[in-house]
Amino acid sequence: MLDQDLIKSLEGIVGSEKVLTSDEDVADRRHDYWVLSHLQSWVDVFEGRPGAVISPSSVEEVQAVVRLASETNTAVVPFGLGSGVCGGVRPDQSMILIDLSGLNQIREIDAFNLKATFDAGVNGLHAEESVTAHGLTIGHWPQSIALSSVGGWVSTRAAGQFSTAYGNIEDMVYSLEVVLPNGDLVILGKAPRAAAGPDLRHLLIGAEGTMGIITGVTLCLRQQPERREYRVFHTPSLAAGIEAQRRILQAGWLPPVMRQYDERETRRTFKSWCMEGHGLLLMVHEGPEGRVEAEVNAIDDLAESCGLVLGDSAAGEHWMENRNHVPTWDELFDRGLIVDTVEVSSSWSDIETLYDKVIEAVSEISGVVAVSAHSSHAYRTGINLYFSFAATAENPIDLEPIYLECWKQIMEKTAECGGGIAHHHGVGRVRKPYLVHDLGESGLALLRNIKNALDPQGLLNPGNLIPDA
Ligand SMILES: Cc1cc2nc3c(=O)[nH]c(=O)nc-3n(C[C@H](O)[C@H](O)[C@H](O)COP(=O)(O)OP(=O)(O)OC[C@H]3O[C@@H](n4cnc5c(N)ncnc54)[C@H](O)[C@@H]3O)c2cc1C
Repeated sequence: MLDQDLIKSLEGIVGSEKVLTSDEDVADRRHDYWVLSHLQSWVDVFEGRPGAVISPSSVEEVQAVVRLASETNTAVVPFGLGSGVCGGVRPDQSMILIDLSGLNQIREIDAFNLKATFDAGVNGLHAEESVTAHGLTIGHWPQSIALSSVGGWVSTRAAGQFSTAYGNIEDMVYSLEVVLPNGDLVILGKAPRAAAGPDLRHLLIGAEGTMGIITGVTLCLRQQPERREYRVFHTPSLAAGIEAQRRILQAGWLPPVMRQYDERETRRTFKSWCMEGHGLLLMVHEGPEGRVEAEVNAIDDLAESCGLVLGDSAAGEHWMENRNHVPTWDELFDRGLIVDTVEVSSSWSDIETLYDKVIEAVSEISGVVAVSAHSSHAYRTGINLYFSFAATAENPIDLEPIYLECWKQIMEKTAECGGGIAHHHGVGRVRKPYLVHDLGESGLALLRNIKNALDPQGLLNPGNLIPDA
């Protein structure tokens, strides 16, 4: 419970109408989109809520709130638009939730130098639409583009659907404006590139609200593409499609979208276009006319040499039109199901073993009714896999242990195969117990030391991301 003097001081900073304390007013900011928080709310066992939700509308207000929090030793949880899926937001009554959606101005679009500056709380789709009007694009298209904020993208180290050519969010960040845990304001990133010591932007990219509060973001832009083409191939095996993708990228081609679906997901997602016994690889090519033409021709040859069969590009257009539709968690709970997605990555040489081991291990868990995967982000050095699983139980309360066992198996099998446990959704609470697989004990100690140096009182988003010593 927050004390009344603190509430009064918060009202003095942001205005009383922007300090919400009743159960009803804070109800939709008790947690993010993590399915386990939703399940716990749905079965009425989740009682957490922030002591107050405050909505600053300027950087100075954010600084004043953070200073007050530091003086009163009060924890603060930053909140963008709440679309995070890993449990990064689960404040309790002793904490202030700082809702950044009031920081929603497009500050500057610089079409000459191809960069734009946004308040951190700007909705992702609004940010993209603001530059579209200038013939430009950010090129960052997470499935949640309309549900997430620019500051949230940076804080979770997000990846968009067009990442193979355009990169992930860390490749697009030009500079960051950040309120540190002591209330100081820093601007990190000044020029197109710097050799000015370690890149401090990376202390915030992926920090999930634990190292500072991002208040402004400058992103690099690109021209809208001159031409777009879709290509779809039937893959006789997972291995054949993966080998084709490896050869394409290592030869230097860069289709912005490359997605390969296993047989099960092909049947589910591309019912009208699937070929018996085959998976599907779809690509979107974009860019200057001549390059798209050359890329499509070269990839047709490479795909054929890997045994892939050219399919109907209408399947690609179908994906493009429907790509951001997802059912709500409650619709699935109503059907007695819990469903989640888990993205991991590995080098080309380990990815098939990783796929086989995860599918086998998760299928064996009692209650699991489906497990499948597709790849959606590829690199010269390797590729990601995006597993989906669905489980059922007679009593909804029993879904939780099944759910956690699925995550455990995916995390541990990935680590056993030498893969990275988190491709783009972040760590939050669901991956926190497994972060050691990526960082090792000494890496975790380093992360804790950095956190202590920046936030010695441990006030920013406690309990998230960083495992206790
Ligand atoms: C349907 C759906 C599809 C999705 N698709 C994708 C996808 O394609 N790619 C992808 O990468 N992710 C995806 N996500 C996950 C999610 O949308 C991203 O993680 C997104 O970047 C979160 O942004 P947000 O503004 O909603 O952040 P929130 O959920 O509000 O917060 C996420 C974390 O960042 C912290 N945070 C938020 N804003 C700030 C700030 N300004 N300063 C400091 N810390 C902050 C919070 O404390 C929290 O720990 C998807 C989610 C859903 C529900």
